[in-house]
Amino acid sequence: MELMVSTKNSPDWRDDSPAQEITDLKGMGEEEIIEFCLEAGEPAYRGRQIFSWIYAKGETDLDRMSDLPRAFREELARRARVGWLEPEKVEKGADGTEKFLWRLGDGNLVESVRVPMPLPDGKTRWSLCISTQVGCAMGCAFCLTAKMGFVRQLSAGEIVEQFLAARRLLPEGERYHNVVFMGMGEPLDNLEASVAAVRLLTHPKGVGMSPRRLTLSTVGIAPKLLEFVREVPGVGVAVSLHAADDVTRGKIVPPNRKWPLNEILTTCRNLPLSERQRITFEYVLLSGVNDSPEDARKLAGLLRGIRCKVNLLPWNPFPDVSFERPADSRVGEFRRILTQSGLDAFVRQSKGLDIRAACGQLADDDKIADRAGRRS
Ligand code: SAH
Repeated sequence: MELMVSTKNSPDWRDDSPAQEITDLKGMGEEEIIEFCLEAGEPAYRGRQIFSWIYAKGETDLDRMSDLPRAFREELARRARVGWLEPEKVEKGADGTEKFLWRLGDGNLVESVRVPMPLPDGKTRWSLCISTQVGCAMGCAFCLTAKMGFVRQLSAGEIVEQFLAARRLLPEGERYHNVVFMGMGEPLDNLEASVAAVRLLTHPKGVGMSPRRLTLSTVGIAPKLLEFVREVPGVGVAVSLHAADDVTRGKIVPPNRKWPLNEILTTCRNLPLSERQRITFEYVLLSGVNDSPEDARKLAGLLRGIRCKVNLLPWNPFPDVSFERPADSRVGEFRRILTQSGLDAFVRQSKGLDIRAACGQLADDDKIADRAGRRS
């Protein structure tokens, strides 16, 4: 007699037992959705159809996937769902920047930021900044997200869903020109999900964005940076430097103890980038900490020979920390030294400061209060 064994990988899909788990298709790649359909006794092309409904068309209602046979749609509705996010809160700043607060399935909150860039022809170019973790474990002294501590990783589905949900909120006919992994969290501390999210965003039958329009920003986890570039070539890379010597950097960016400047920059020099690609280095300017002309000269020296540009970010304030944003003249001087050394350097104007949507201002206040309470 043959024993019938039902394993997790080959579920008896037509089984009507109530214990059946509902699978969330959001976050699955094309191959996984195809596999899901094959297990259901459906042909592979049904998986491709579902994949493109979810990512290219942004459909979350299985019943509206109109080219699937009705019986299959009904069956699907019993076995699967397509998770989605609704904005819990949308705040709009004076410069048009909008901050979306999303509540995740388990009650945690994450934020994404949409930045409109008005073009001379009257059109708007939209960028979206998305989060990869709830909170962050890196502990950078000047960053508000760090004050929350690390809460949990986001799944690939939750990362991409921020894009899909924010896309639903765009005006008719508009699209995102850029998506940056620069929200809450350290994306390379969640490498697998970040890579999977990039794949979903760039899959030609999915969202279909060009890798060039995506940028991942990292605190500089050197080995993972190399792995990321190998996994998803062509995606923009921004590295948060913030100091030109290890002593200063170690004080404000704790992971520097594990991955010091030399290791990060050696990795950067050897990244298998495409010919046209260049690395962006980010440098938060903190008054009296890392903003002297000497710091600028050291920075220029460190970056010599690396195909790169530098984005200077005058510190965006939040309460209860002792940092200060340098005066504009000081920022200008820092930039001038870099450009005179032959570097392309830009001062990034902060967007959404009034709604705390600017770099390093994203956080769940309740979580910060909880942590502060536990410490006292
Ligand atoms: N974990 C990633 C993404 C962080 S947010 C990283 O470290 O790169 C994107 C950038 O904003 C980083 O360079 C980060 O260091 C910077 N940043 C954080 N807090 C800031 C603040 N208060 N003002 C200006 N920039 C800040």
